[in-house]
Amino acid sequence: MPIKLVTTAVELRSESARLLMQKQGASQGLVPTMGALHEGHAQLARTAVEQNDVVVASIFVNPLQFGDAVDLDRYPRTLDADLALLEAEGVDLAFAPSVEEVYPGGEPLVRVTAGPLGDKWEGASRPGHFDGALTVVAKLLHYGIPGAGLPPSGAFASSGGAGLAAYRAYFGQKDAQQLALVRRMVADLDFPVDIVGVPTVRSADGLALSSRNRFLSGEQREAALVLSRALRLLEDRSNAHEPLDLESAQDLVASQPLVELDYFEVVDPGTLEPLAENCRETPFRGEGLAIIAAKVGPVRLIDNVPLSS
Ligand code: AMP
Repeated sequence: MPIKLVTTAVELRSESARLLMQKQGASQGLVPTMGALHEGHAQLARTAVEQNDVVVASIFVNPLQFGDAVDLDRYPRTLDADLALLEAEGVDLAFAPSVEEVYPGGEPLVRVTAGPLGDKWEGASRPGHFDGALTVVAKLLHYGIPGAGLPPSGAFASSGGAGLAAYRAYFGQKDAQQLALVRRMVADLDFPVDIVGVPTVRSADGLALSSRNRFLSGEQREAALVLSRALRLLEDRSNAHEPLDLESAQDLVASQPLVELDYFEVVDPGTLEPLAENCRETPFRGEGLAIIAAKVGPVRLIDNVPLSS
């Protein structure tokens, strides 16, 4: 079926409700994105299509989560290609609202506060980033609630469907801190949605796919490979039940002059508190997440691998 593009929340609600009714669907999936889609986003869409009767993908470059106006301006916008990718994956609806549609009164006065989990790691370098990201995710999750576009007496409601459809939203593990925060927001504020984390998609050489990778020169892209190599070192040690030897992995990153390291740690996947002290000398046991962030040329790159032993 061809994908349908909608630009207002009202259209999104009515179109998704109509599709649910038409397909006699019992589940709806939402895939929030900022566009400039690549195979990582395609994997999110594919997973959502496999698991739901109706799938909506949103494309919205959210000004609230950009600290830097230049970064916001130069963020790639590729709507036609994005629609083609989503259609090929079987997504039913693309929701691409304007800034005015999402923030009709200008920047919202009341926002979601990420709290202490939002102040560390990415939050430390990008103040306010996660408040802005969670605020728009909250709005998008509300827009995507299944059945919300139908009157209570509609045919779908009387067939027992409206409001009862399962509701899932899909986020990449690539943005591990964002995923942890979205999970906390949904749990702490009782949003009626299941959050599904999707493993990171990488290019063949290991670099995690990102819409910003296109700004790397050939030389910078080659240098950036040290991030995934360093993470893989830790993963191999964890799999071999050896001490993680974070220092050697950090030295590997430091050996690459084009890479300006911000942080590289092993943390608890839920709280994002460092675990490094108790896994340096003894074999790693339990669940962890190795997280890394660095600047390479004009681009800030983040990556992570889950560790389980
Ligand atoms: P973005 O458009 O960068 O805001 O990303 C939209 C969604 O795609 C987020 O949930 C990201 O975590 C996810 N995503 C981005 N890159 C990847 C990747 N390489 N693998 C898996 N998911 C990704």
